[in-house]
Amino acid sequence: MKAFREELLQEMQSLRTVDCHSHTVRPGEYQEAAPLSLFGYSSYFDRTIDSVTGGSRPQLYAGCTTDEQRWERLKPVLAKARNVSYWRHHIVTHQGLFDLADDDLTDANWAAINATIHERTADPDWYRHVTEDICALQTQVRNIPWFEDWEPEYFTAILRMESALELQRQDVRESLEAHLDRSIGNLAEAKEALAELVAQYEARGALGIKLAHAYRRTLHSERVSAVEASATFDRGLRGLTLKQPAIKRLQDHIIFFLAGVCEEMGLVFDIHTGVQGNWGNVPDSNPLHLLPLIHAHPKVRFSLYHGGYPYSREMGMLAKHSPNVWLNLAWMFVVTMEGTRQSLSEWLDLVPGYRILGFGSDVGWPEMIYGHLVMARSCIADVLAEKAERDFLSRDAALDLARMMMRDNGMALYGA
Ligand SMILES: [Zn+2]
Repeated sequence: MKAFREELLQEMQSLRTVDCHSHTVRPGEYQEAAPLSLFGYSSYFDRTIDSVTGGSRPQLYAGCTTDEQRWERLKPVLAKARNVSYWRHHIVTHQGLFDLADDDLTDANWAAINATIHERTADPDWYRHVTEDICALQTQVRNIPWFEDWEPEYFTAILRMESALELQRQDVRESLEAHLDRSIGNLAEAKEALAELVAQYEARGALGIKLAHAYRRTLHSERVSAVEASATFDRGLRGLTLKQPAIKRLQDHIIFFLAGVCEEMGLVFDIHTGVQGNWGNVPDSNPLHLLPLIHAHPKVRFSLYHGGYPYSREMGMLAKHSPNVWLNLAWMFVVTMEGTRQSLSEWLDLVPGYRILGFGSDVGWPEMIYGHLVMARSCIADVLAEKAERDFLSRDAALDLARMMMRDNGMALYGA
């Protein structure tokens, strides 16, 4: 089993991986921030810092003028929380990219790692080197905020759409009006504007849209008539304060409209499910809430993010019974390696392999893509080797699945 696990790892390392969900900073932004330091680049451990200290990373280091002082501030946080995956993600990254030989950061090694980070990230070719040479990414399916641009040599675009659910707000409406140079005087015009914006991005190569509304409201949505939604929208236009449930029902109408746009334009509909931030209302993120939307649009391909964790088992059944649902493991390995192993092992019993997307970095710094990729390959090799060992999965099928999850499925869905 150990030898086969190694074979699976080598197979994955030999591929050009498709990163099926990315927020990576753009090359120009990176050059402005470089060189980085141990305390200046981070990932989801920032949320753990918030959960431990009640404040952000900049607040943790406020008033510090030296890295020695910053290390002294970080140490008590690590003493409480270095067990979480969000921290171990940093360790894997430091080990692979910055020569950390130990299994954690300590008083004895942090300064040398900090110096190495500074030195390597000062190289103007470092960003390209990490993403292309070390991670060997074919492309990153990047979340593009409204009106922003991307570099096609690194990214494939997915247009982020939460603002579409806020068009009853004057500031959001005006930003769209200004961008398109058209006015929005009612709901029908708002929907025309949204379709025009999506079409603009589609013409430039975007392959889908994304909603991450589960951070703020329930994923549940249902069909709401244009008459009802228009009446609510008009009240918003007249400056009246909208209340729940009218706001949710207006948003539901827009969400169904967006699925229709995806159907017309052949776009993928990416939706955040599961895992939220601190104080998130966890049940809102249950992917089963999406059933009415998914059933109403059988021709739209939905890519559901983050394994739906902790509703991964439910999401496995959702995908088993919904041929238009792709399971996207973006973010999952840095959330929980063990949870991902268990979920993936069950999914492989349930869902045709071509609908499982094995990797989405979901981080800001290219270095953290590397750490996440190492964690992903390790978990996928664990699961596939075990399935071959005891669950009657052929070794040939297991090797195929490794290639499909890390590359082929992403290429097929996102046409990357
Ligand atoms: Zn994301």
